[in-house]
Amino acid sequence: MSLRKVIVFDSKSYDEKTFKAALKNLNGQNKLRFTFLESKLTEETVDEALGYDAICVFVNDIVNQNVIEQLHKTCATVKMIALRCAGFNNVHLETAEKYELKVSRVPRYSPYAVAEHSVALLLSLNRNMHHAFFRTKQHNFSLDGLVGIDLFGKTVGIIGTGGIGMCAINIFLGFGCRVLAYDIYPNENAAKEKGFVYTTMDELLRESDVVSIYAPLLDSTYHLINKEALDKMKPRAMLINTSRGGLVDSKALLECLKSGKLRGAALDVYENEKQYFFNDYSQQVMEDDTLARLISMPNTIVTSHQAFLTEEALKNIAETTVQSLLDFFDGKPLNENNEVKAPPKK
Ligand code: NAD
Repeated sequence: MSLRKVIVFDSKSYDEKTFKAALKNLNGQNKLRFTFLESKLTEETVDEALGYDAICVFVNDIVNQNVIEQLHKTCATVKMIALRCAGFNNVHLETAEKYELKVSRVPRYSPYAVAEHSVALLLSLNRNMHHAFFRTKQHNFSLDGLVGIDLFGKTVGIIGTGGIGMCAINIFLGFGCRVLAYDIYPNENAAKEKGFVYTTMDELLRESDVVSIYAPLLDSTYHLINKEALDKMKPRAMLINTSRGGLVDSKALLECLKSGKLRGAALDVYENEKQYFFNDYSQQVMEDDTLARLISMPNTIVTSHQAFLTEEALKNIAETTVQSLLDFFDGKPLNENNEVKAPPKK
């Protein structure tokens, strides 16, 4: 196989480090050459792919119809879009298929990383760690306003029981919580074996003290948690979202937090995160009033899409991505779990 060139958009130092290590581990140094670019892939930056054989993108790169059309017109040597993440909601798969661009992703790099981060967010929110940390830093040892609730015996509602949701269920069962779940494809065997119960979305919302989302963002799940769903939630419940921002109507959530209906929310993802997440905007005025207001709420924690960020996850992401690129350029079929195809035409 001749040397193939891959441009990595929206890359950080940890991507460069782990991709170089993966190339070495998989003996791919003479087969693939990576160029790491800090810019996200957008309509303005797509021409950077000129002369490359593949592009490697992350969650906030824009790979919509326009970008793929432009890629096809001006960077026709590009034959593959390698997503270094699980979700593929940012890729217009039909257009990729039209221009015969192979699309790969990393479906299960570490469900533990994401599940554990969602639990970390819940524990921090519930026990007010985000306030306690700053208080003791200032030698303020008061406890006023830091009261949480026991999670033991409480009901946790899990939306989406795939790889990550199932890891979260294991953790919450270990805490002694009652776990309710909702999935369009329930895994009744796992429910029986582990001791959780599938229910309807309405019942899950009504009964849960904590609702945590692990479903993908699809047209059908956009604003799954909207005003109506929030109204159904138990008063003083907590909402955790480590899945995708578009699953939650953030303006409706903000109203719920302002009114005191919810005890709090913890978000690793935000529907308009593209503009801000992964970069330092500390010296600039934030233009997104909803995000600014959410961040300012004492009962809300926002992290910037970092749930995946563990050493193990980064290693798996890099190795799976490099393997998919090597397979493709070697003319081998991609692992069927890693290949992303457009849904069949109706
Ligand atoms: P998965 O495919 O293993 O599981 C998703 C589950 O959601 C499936 O069981 C599916 O049946 C279910 N589902 C689909 N539509 C649903 C609906 N309308 N209602 C309820 N359930 C529905 O995926 P996963 O690996 O568990 O990942 C879940 C999501 O987590 C990904 O789609 C991705 O968006 C997100 N994620 C976030 C991060 C992060 O860093 N914050 C990292 C990785 C993944």
